Amino acid sequence: MGEAKRKQQNAPYGPALATGVRAAVAKAMPALDSPRFDALMGQLFGVADSALAALVAKDPPRRTIACKAGCAYCCHLYVQVTPLEAIGVMRAIQAQGPEALAAVRARVADTFVKAEGKDAAYRNLLALPCPLLVDGQCSVYAARPFVCRGANSADVDACRRGMGSASGVPLPTFVHQRTVYAAVGQGAAQGLRERGVDPDLLELVAALKIALDHDDPLTAWRNGTLNFTPARCIEVAKQRSA
Ligand code: SF4
Repeated sequence: MGEAKRKQQNAPYGPALATGVRAAVAKAMPALDSPRFDALMGQLFGVADSALAALVAKDPPRRTIACKAGCAYCCHLYVQVTPLEAIGVMRAIQAQGPEALAAVRARVADTFVKAEGKDAAYRNLLALPCPLLVDGQCSVYAARPFVCRGANSADVDACRRGMGSASGVPLPTFVHQRTVYAAVGQGAAQGLRERGVDPDLLELVAALKIALDHDDPLTAWRNGTLNFTPARCIEVAKQRSA
C-alpha cells in the first residue's frame, strides 16, 4: 500500500485520537498542579504510543525506520510545540539539576540570537542544532515534543542531504507515526482552547527562553505571569496581526 493510500484509509483515527486527547486536556486543566501535569503528559504520551503500536501491528512500515540514537539530522529543524510541551520540556530540564539547567540556558540564549525572527523555511536552511541536543542525543528524550516523536525516516542519507537544503529532499516516512503524534498535538491544542487558554503553537527555542526566566514555569503559566505570546511561531503571529 502506498503512503498516500495508507493515509486515506486510516484518516478517521487521527480525529478520533485528537478528540480523546482534547477531552483529557480539558478535564485536567482546571486543577493542573505539578503531579496532575506529569500525569497528564504521561497519559498523552501513553495514548499516542499505544495507538502507534496498534497501527504498527496492523499495518507495519514497508521500509525499516532508520532512526536510532545518535542520528540527529531532524534535530536541526524548526520545532513547534504547544504550551503544554514547552512546560513539559522545561520540567525535564529542571529535573536534571542546576548544572544541566545552566548549560541549557546558555545554549538556548545562543540559539535564540541566531534564530530570532526567522521563519520555518529560513530556520531549516540554517540547520541550527536544537539546544537540547547533547552529544548528538536528545537530553529530554522522555519529554520530547510530539513533532519530534512523530519524525521518522527510512533513509538516513536523504535526511543527511536534506539538512540545510534550500530545495528540500523528500523523505520516505512511516505516515502512521507522523499522523498519531500530530493528532495528539492537535487534540492538546483543542483542549487548551476549550478551557480558554491560548493554544497557539510556539517556537521551541523562544518558548524555552521565556520559560527559563521562571523557577516554576507551570505555576507561572497557570497564574498568567509566564506569557508565551512572544514565542508564537512567526506564521501564527503574522495571522494574528493581519
Ligand atoms: S527536543 Fe529533542 S528530539 Fe526534539 S529537536 Fe530537540 S533534541 Fe531533537
